[in-house]
Formats: sequence, structure tokens, C-alpha cells
Amino acid sequence: MRKRFDVIVIGGGLLGSFSARSLTKYRLKTAVLEAREDLCTGITRANTAIVYSGCDTKPGTRKSRMCVRAAQSFSQLCEELGVRYSACGSIMICFGPKGEKALRRKYDQGLENGVRGLKLLSQREVLELEPHLHPAVRAALLAPEAGTVIPWELGIAAAENAVANGAELLLNTKVTGIRRTENGYVITSDDQEFFARAVVNCAGLSADRILEAVQKPCVRIFPEAGDYYVLDTKAGGMIRHVIFHEPEEKEKGLTLVPTVDGNILLGPTKVSASGLEAFAVSREGLKELAALVPRVIPDLPMEHVIRSFGAVRPNPFRVAYDAESGTYVTQEESISDFTVHESGEAPGFLSFVGIKTPGLTCAAALGEYAAERISLLLHAEPKETFNPMRAMPLRLNTLSPEEAAKLAAENPAYGRIVCRCRKVTEGEIVDSIRRFPGAVTVDGVKRRTGACSGRCQGSYCTQKIIEIIARERGIPPSSVQKDGPGSYLIGGGIHDSL
Ligand SMILES: Cc1cc2nc3c(=O)[nH]c(=O)nc-3n(C[C@H](O)[C@H](O)[C@H](O)COP(=O)(O)OP(=O)(O)OC[C@H]3O[C@@H](n4cnc5c(N)ncnc54)[C@H](O)[C@@H]3O)c2cc1C
Repeated sequence: MRKRFDVIVIGGGLLGSFSARSLTKYRLKTAVLEAREDLCTGITRANTAIVYSGCDTKPGTRKSRMCVRAAQSFSQLCEELGVRYSACGSIMICFGPKGEKALRRKYDQGLENGVRGLKLLSQREVLELEPHLHPAVRAALLAPEAGTVIPWELGIAAAENAVANGAELLLNTKVTGIRRTENGYVITSDDQEFFARAVVNCAGLSADRILEAVQKPCVRIFPEAGDYYVLDTKAGGMIRHVIFHEPEEKEKGLTLVPTVDGNILLGPTKVSASGLEAFAVSREGLKELAALVPRVIPDLPMEHVIRSFGAVRPNPFRVAYDAESGTYVTQEESISDFTVHESGEAPGFLSFVGIKTPGLTCAAALGEYAAERISLLLHAEPKETFNPMRAMPLRLNTLSPEEAAKLAAENPAYGRIVCRCRKVTEGEIVDSIRRFPGAVTVDGVKRRTGACSGRCQGSYCTQKIIEIIARERGIPPSSVQKDGPGSYLIGGGIHDSL
């Protein structure tokens, strides 16, 4: 039986989750098809987590318009969705005359874009704000409206809110074929078929291939990799703002982010993705990062690094058919503005291809854009019952001892600490599994509760989390995966009697 929808969103990352949420503001039967067992496991789970103020983007572009507005309303968005947000502001620092010129350019650009509160700081002023910076720092640009958020926390919250407002979410549903019909699209996923009058393609690194299922190639993604380090909360107090280092020479500067959880994120580098597994770290990139640190914050305690991870940038390039070679060839530079692909060849098929930074900042705005376009195309009316609010999941480590004790008395699972580093209880882990869309893997629990993301990186709690997932899902412990297809943590047999 073919399931029918008005709109199908392909992909459950930040863009798919926000597109679905915005579509539920209209009388449209909406579904999200996500290939993986969980949401936000693609580009959304590996990025710099910054809410940009909008002084980096070229004036007059869609990117800059969306970014400035998004930054100014980000606290409200996070309040609606019950997501933690740190409005810490950013400073861009330089160590020489070229950097200082770049800062002034960004200051002027920011003013033109409508960014509020920008201020150029002297050496004394910047060192007062960030005393651990290298004393040779020359000047800085302060952008108080920047901040940081946990990307998957935001994406999962948007998807939960979309589901609460009527969207259907189908996980483990990889789109394998799309056929245009007279009045819409037939979408295939293994042995299932769906019909939709319109489609929003948010398939991240696969978005170009999804687009090519319905029209001639016009844009292709050429991925590039990046590496990050995460420092333990012990080092967290060393910085207060997001710090962008504007280098003097043509090289990548260092970015430091004081995360919502109190860690410091360092990165990203820019390295070739060829030959690398997607989301792998590169030794060369990590070496580069470590070498930059003493030039920016000499006493940053690198012995507190608890993790490194790799990211993939979906660089989009326009392509055109070359009759001589009979192939599609790339044209000029990569596309820098946010481009939403929509053509007469495939009406009602909107594609977000190669949405890079600041795609996290602008995810809600991009989702709104898609929903407005689709509602116009399908003549859909707004839905008065749409509720933008989603309650924040319970986090015992944010409660007073009295409140936590009261909860533990009502339900002893809230009194049993599983993750010692982040003080996450069994009750919260059970909640994260029982919610919809709930955690089915150890990393799914991590994304929702923070368990396994502390200093020991799951050394103490992974086994207990496996047991809880197995018990809650009624599966043997050996079937529990770390992070999706094939990532089994333990063998079968004796372990299943855990
Ligand atoms: C290195 C890096 C740093 C960044 N830093 C920032 C930052 O600090 N601030 C900021 O604002 N932005 C930042 N961004 C941008 C931001 O992270 C992205 O724009 C955003 O996460 C993109 O989300 P997405 O939904 O498009 O992609 P994804 O998160 O990759 O989601 C795509 C989803 O589609 C699914 N999918 C793929 N193929 C199929 C299929 N055939 N069928 C069904 N599902 C499918 C995938 O499983 C995946 O879940 C950064 C990006 C990168 C790469």
C-alpha cells in the first residue's frame, strides 16, 4: 500500500527537522523520511556549534539576512523548544595589521548587515574580557549577539515539536528512488512506496544525488573534512566568548567555543576529504590544531583533551554538461550563498544542497522558507492549532538537591547515577529511550542526555546504558549499537546474560 502525504521531507538533520516543524504550521500532511535509526547523525552532529551574529556574511545575501535575524531571535527559539542556549557573544581577535584590517572590514560589514552591539576593542579591552589570550593580541571585534547551542539538541527538539504538531517521522527509511508523476512524486524506500504532492530535500551530503533523481545535474557536493578537539569542563573557565582567530597569513585560524555543557571546542581545520572515511579525524589536521593553540591561548591545558572528532563540509559547486567529454563539469568557485534549488523540471521539489555555515544558525529560517514556498505551491491554509512549545527534558543536574531528592523519592531511577561525569541518572536515560523519537543506540542516549560525553567518555557508563537500552527495547545486549549500522559494542552469547 502506498502511503500518501502532501509533503515528504527527505532527511532528519537540522534542516529536515526544522522544515517539518514549519510545515506543521499549515494544513499539510507531512512526513519525514530518515535513512538512519535516529535524527541528527550527519553534518548536524559534527560542527562548531556557533550561533553567528552575521558580521561574516556578505551584505545583501540571503545568508546574511537570515543569519542576522536568526541570531537576534535565537534565545526565543530555544525557549520555545526547551533547548539550552548560551548567549556568550563572540570576539574575533588578531595579532597584526592585516588581521586588524580584516576586523574593521567585518565591523563595517556587520553594521551594514544590521548586526547590533558590535564593538572594536583595544588590546587592553580584549585582555580584560579574555585574560588567557596571548598577550600579543592586537585588537578584537566583539559581537554580543553570537552564542552557542548544542546542534543535535536543537534538531531533535525541532523534530519532536514537528511530531507533536502532527508530522509523521519514519526512521530507518532510506530513500532509494524517486519518480515524478503528473501531480507529485512517488518515493521508494526498499520495499515501501510513498506518494507526496511536494518534496523538501534535506538529505545533507546526499542531497545532490537525491536532486538528480528528478532533474538534470545542476549542483554537486565536493566534501571537505575538518577536525576538532574537545577539552574537558576542567578547562572550561579559560574562555568566556566564542573566539575567532583571524590569522595574518593565508592560513586557517583557530576557533574556540565555550560550549553549553562547559567544555571547550577547538577547530575546525580544513583538510582534503579524499581517502578519508566520512567523519574520520585526520592526524595532519589535529597536529595543525595543536600547533595553533600556543599562538592564541598559550596556557590552554591540552592535557584536558577528552575527544577529537571529524566533520564533513558539503561544498556545493554548480555543474554544467560538457558535450565534448560527455560529462558534467564543475564551474568556477563553490556556491557561497544559501541556494534553494527549485526548477521547472521538478515542480514542488525543493532542495537544500550544500548548506554549510551558518546552516545551524539559520536552520529555523531555512525551514520557514521551505514551508512558505510549499504552502504557496499547494495552496495550504495556516493551522491555528500549531503549538511552538516543547518542554525541555528533565535534567537532574540542573535541579537543586531538594528537588532531585524529591524526584528520587517518587521514582528511585532518578536517584541512580549512571554517568558519573555528567551526573545523568537511570531515570533520564529511560526517559530518553521512551520519548518519541527516542534513543535506540548508546550515542542516541548521549545526544539526548549528555551521558558518555564527560571526562571518561563512557568508560564507566556505556555498559550500564547498553543494559538499559536492551531492557527497555526488549532486545539482547549484543544487539545494542553504539551509533547505527554495524556498530555493535559487544559480542553475543555470554554477554546476553548481562
Ligand atoms: C565543519 C562544519 C562546521 C559548521 N559549523 C557551524 C556553526 O558553527 N554554526 C552554524 O550556524 N553552522 C555551522 N555549520 C553548518 C551546519 O552544521 C549545517 O548547515 C547543518 O548541520 C546541515 O544540516 P542538514 O540537515 O542539511 O544535514 P545533515 O545533518 O547531514 O542531515 C541530513 C540527513 O539526511 C539523511 N539522509 C541522507 N540520505 C538520505 C536518504 N537517501 N534517505 C533518507 N534520509 C537520508 C541523513 O541520514 C541525515 O540524517 C557547520 C558545518 C560544517 C560542515
